[in-house]
Amino acid sequence: MARSKDTIVAGTVQNRSESAELTPMMIQYLSIKDQHKDEILFYRLGDFYEMFNNDAIEVSRLLNLTLTHRGSAPMCGIPFHAVKIYIARLLRCGKRIAICEQIGEPNGKTLTERKVIEVITPGTALESEYLEGGSNNFLACVVAQKGKVGFAYIDVTTSDFFATSWYEKDMEENFAKELDRCHPRELLLPQNLEKNEIIQASLEQNERIAVSYYPDWNFDSALSYKRLCTQFKTANLQSFSLNESSPEVAPAGFLLDYLQKTTTSNSPHVTGIKIYRDSQFVIMDDSSRRNLEIVQNLRDGTSQFSLLECLSHTQTAMGKRMMRNWLLYPLTNVEEIQNRQSHVELFVNNRNLLEYVREIFADILDVERLAGRVAMERAHAKDLQALRLSLESWLKVREQLDDFGFTQTDKTIAQNISKLIFDSILEDPATALDEGRIIKGGWSSELDEYRRIHDNVNKILEDYAEEEKASSGIANLRIRSNSLSGYYIEITRGKASQVPPHFILRRALTNADRYTTPRLQEIEKQINEASLKIIETEKALFLEVRSKIAEQTNYLLQSAKEIAYADVTAALANAAILHGWVKPLVDNSKEFTVRSGRHPVVELHLPGGEFVPNDIEISAENDSYQPYFGLITGPNMAGKSTYLRQNALIALLAQIGSFVPAREAHIGVVDRIFCRVGASDNLARGESTFLVEMTETAYILRTATEKSFVIMDEVGRGTSTEDGLSIAWAVSEYLLNALKCKTLFATHYHELTRLNHPRLQLLCMEVSEENDKVTFLRKIKVGASENSYGIHVASLAGLPQSVIRRANEILQSLHSTSQDGTGTGVNVENVVTVQTAETEKTLQKSVTMPGLFSDEELVLDEILSCDPDDMTPRQALDLIARWKKSLSGR
Ligand code: ADP
Ligand code: MG
Repeated sequence: MARSKDTIVAGTVQNRSESAELTPMMIQYLSIKDQHKDEILFYRLGDFYEMFNNDAIEVSRLLNLTLTHRGSAPMCGIPFHAVKIYIARLLRCGKRIAICEQIGEPNGKTLTERKVIEVITPGTALESEYLEGGSNNFLACVVAQKGKVGFAYIDVTTSDFFATSWYEKDMEENFAKELDRCHPRELLLPQNLEKNEIIQASLEQNERIAVSYYPDWNFDSALSYKRLCTQFKTANLQSFSLNESSPEVAPAGFLLDYLQKTTTSNSPHVTGIKIYRDSQFVIMDDSSRRNLEIVQNLRDGTSQFSLLECLSHTQTAMGKRMMRNWLLYPLTNVEEIQNRQSHVELFVNNRNLLEYVREIFADILDVERLAGRVAMERAHAKDLQALRLSLESWLKVREQLDDFGFTQTDKTIAQNISKLIFDSILEDPATALDEGRIIKGGWSSELDEYRRIHDNVNKILEDYAEEEKASSGIANLRIRSNSLSGYYIEITRGKASQVPPHFILRRALTNADRYTTPRLQEIEKQINEASLKIIETEKALFLEVRSKIAEQTNYLLQSAKEIAYADVTAALANAAILHGWVKPLVDNSKEFTVRSGRHPVVELHLPGGEFVPNDIEISAENDSYQPYFGLITGPNMAGKSTYLRQNALIALLAQIGSFVPAREAHIGVVDRIFCRVGASDNLARGESTFLVEMTETAYILRTATEKSFVIMDEVGRGTSTEDGLSIAWAVSEYLLNALKCKTLFATHYHELTRLNHPRLQLLCMEVSEENDKVTFLRKIKVGASENSYGIHVASLAGLPQSVIRRANEILQSLHSTSQDGTGTGVNVENVVTVQTAETEKTLQKSVTMPGLFSDEELVLDEILSCDPDDMTPRQALDLIARWKKSLSGR
């Protein structure tokens, strides 16, 4: 993790001042740096920001800058006018930056005073140069108190503020998952978590998060509760489902404190927090999300070849962020899903409307962040114009959408804001506040008057020049000005004798003399006053307009969410049309039927029509005879992994409200999606891969419910064949008998096909074999694969023919030895005997394993993993009844 280290060489400032080589400037530097140990100090020195010592070494490495020296101190510098680019890059590396400016003008004699005027951190940066348009910029905080953990995160640029909580014992599952979901740029923690192994392990996987620790007393629930009430202007936090002892309160309050300190604003636009519970969303751990390549691919972490890529049809930054969030938080509530679907469908059925809306959306800027800038008093006049143009575009779209339930806000407010900006602000105003050129003529009569004086300068001066010309008779008399001496009258040497007595000589040049007059001085004073007044008045008027708009911050943020919603549904419609997707039937059943389903990403990258669609029909309904467990065998490269993932992705797409890549689909909502991939695919993570595989499998077995969807791809591959097979077998039994959830299990252990259970279906990938030519048809069919075609794949890969021949011989002999060992199907419904036959060692003996999951064990397991604190009395009674029933057979 990017943790800033103490970058000052040990020793106090006093000690250093005694050292002979330290200049007064270095002493000043070190004393300021002492106050900013956790930041990289940008120390302003003329036209540069300089860094010294360890800061210089680190920054020169990160930004590839030349490292020089000042005295004995390592130093590197950045030109002040390009500073934002460098800051942006350091923020991306998870660094915090303190900007130290010169206060007062350097006089060359004494040391210029310097002060840190701003601290910029990855999670609190406000300038658009430091932000990514398409994703949120979250600052997060995690606090563990009294056995519970609160996790809160906020994007101050958009005011998105969320929190959730879990029991401390569930830290392992939840911390990584939440971190992965919100991808914070910066994380704040109490010091007591510095030694928490689970947290530290997660943070090591997320090196780019800026992490900092604060003394534990900062995380006080009671104070935080008051802090939140003040922020939200409410007497209590009931409407956010929080009370004083809610675990979410301490981290949420601390985030606000921290923001106040770093941004020096109380973020008035942050007026609420969303507390979410996992049950609202499909639960997915981070490794499932990664394996399914939802928002980023496994290879290089970009969104290329991810599901997000297929859906990247949003037009606005707000829409892009919302699309990402939808993918990370699929819904479980059928009504909400159907509501989204209906809006997507509306666009699909009305392409003219879709095109119109998307075209206009292309002109809408980031209203959400603009509103944040207005509220935090950062917006300049160009921002207001951007806001106006965006609102006007949005109003145009609203004319078409307001009848269809996309909007709830009052559009007259948007009209008023847009009119206010149009009437008051110039079309192309200055961005600085102290240069004028902001306010339109006609907005203020006072300003118009100052401008009139100012604009008439030429006329007044010309009139005066004419006057003096006439009275003096000097025809080439001119009034000129320059920035150094202001206005003056210039008269050539030849006319020196005609100069009237009221002319005061200011400067004699070779060919001409420069004069002033009392009248000219007076005109000059008026002009200067008018310019000053114009700037002052424009600034005051601008601030007035801005604060009027700031009163509507909530409205603007709500509108931004409406824009994002319309943009995302339009994008989903666009994707559906482009890729030929259909609206799935989503309900509360436990069905999962897909006809002609496709993998959205694989299909996208294959030439049109080459992807082979496949069906699936499983159901976890209690009274159904349909299978809920599909066991898929087939050679490598046959398309197993693709088939598995495509079905998980279809479930996920359905539950974000999207159409799905299929001819027809019926999806009963799932509460969790798990996607496990056998160890060798996870090598990049460098852990003991088999241990990871088993930890992840254990997690599924502990947390899956009847409504979950489990994808297991070659689980058990990371160990020896016998171990792997036995584990795969036992895990399958547990899924079939104890969890009863929808499962697709791909394996190369053919022995597993002898599992026998009424709700298990054997599936395999069709392969055609003609004249020794093997073709993978990529079509799923019922039954077990007969041949693993491993030798065929080896030959495709170019192994020498002699090796291939020898391999075939060995295979033949293995097959013949195994004849007697091969039993018939093993019925595993509540039976736990395993017979393995085809592996060399077990050829001779049939191994009978002890009962792996007896009813007692299942009950015991459940007792150990259930949480009485989290249960209603009714649920507890139901549980006991169920346990009794399952043990009563004994
Ligand atoms: P397996 O897991 O059986 O080894 P994969 O799912 O990794 O096989 O697929 C192997 C290759 O086949 C992939 O590169 C993929 O592009 C292609 N493929 C898989 N399924 C299909 C399909 N249904 N239609 C067309 N190509 C497919
Ligand atoms: Mg595979």
